Amino acid sequence: MSTTDRPVMLVTGASRGIGAEIALLAAEQGWRVGVNYHRSEAAAQAVVARIRAGGGEAVALQADVADLQAVRRMFGALDAAFGRLDALVNNAGMLANFRITEVDAANVAGIYAANVFGSYYCASEAARRMARSHGGRGGAIVNMSSVASRLGGLAGGTAYAGTKGAIDAFNLALAKELGPEGIRVNALRPGLIATEIHEVHGGIGQMEQLARTAVPLGRAGTAREVAQTALWLAGDAASYVHGAVLDVAGGR
Ligand code: NAP
Repeated sequence: MSTTDRPVMLVTGASRGIGAEIALLAAEQGWRVGVNYHRSEAAAQAVVARIRAGGGEAVALQADVADLQAVRRMFGALDAAFGRLDALVNNAGMLANFRITEVDAANVAGIYAANVFGSYYCASEAARRMARSHGGRGGAIVNMSSVASRLGGLAGGTAYAGTKGAIDAFNLALAKELGPEGIRVNALRPGLIATEIHEVHGGIGQMEQLARTAVPLGRAGTAREVAQTALWLAGDAASYVHGAVLDVAGGR
């Protein structure tokens, strides 16, 4: 396979945490990778450098996924770099910790824009490239939900849980819309995974302590364990998995 025949995956929020692991594992498995980031440019460039050092192809793509124009520019840059798209992982997301009495327009709108609107914007641009009715060859979309959608999240997590419930419903409806277009759509529901996202409510140490009792497997998960499941869902091994929401949560 020449390098230009290799499939292309765009991973949003791939500068750190779960997204970075998905990008690195995708490259190991032969994908060419778009490494989206919002603010962490140096970290995103480090992910790209690791991929290139391993013989893979990657490009760093700055965009706030909550900004539709920025998302459109990002997809244009991906087109220019690779000329095709085969999979989108809607991973970018944030956690918020505020009580319902502390709600204001900014804290609610901000998390819904990043976690929900961003997934709509990126899925739309991906579908314009992958859908058969648009001349595409099909593909896969993986949406990042959370067990918060069925457990309600941690303290101060009403907005976060709401965004992930929205992603579960979005995933199902998108699967109905895009299945006939040759695009498989699935979601992951990670549980307690050791990443920097937990800084807003006590940090990784506190989360790992909780995981020892709250998770039947007795530990937090790793970003790599989520990445392995995401890559499986995006690839041909999951060719008849569609509209599914898969827990990666150690039984929690
Ligand atoms: P993380 O370590 O905090 O990383 C978040 C990533 O998302 C960063 O690369 C960040 O980019 C990017 N991002 C955030 N807002 C963005 C925006 N508006 N536009 C573009 N990129 C944006 O988080 P993580 O734990 O890896 O989480 C990844 C996904 O998994 C999220 O959707 C999260 O909700 C979900 N999840 C995580 C857990 C967990 O326990 N860790 C559990 C369930 C679900 P910059 O740094 O460049 O700004």
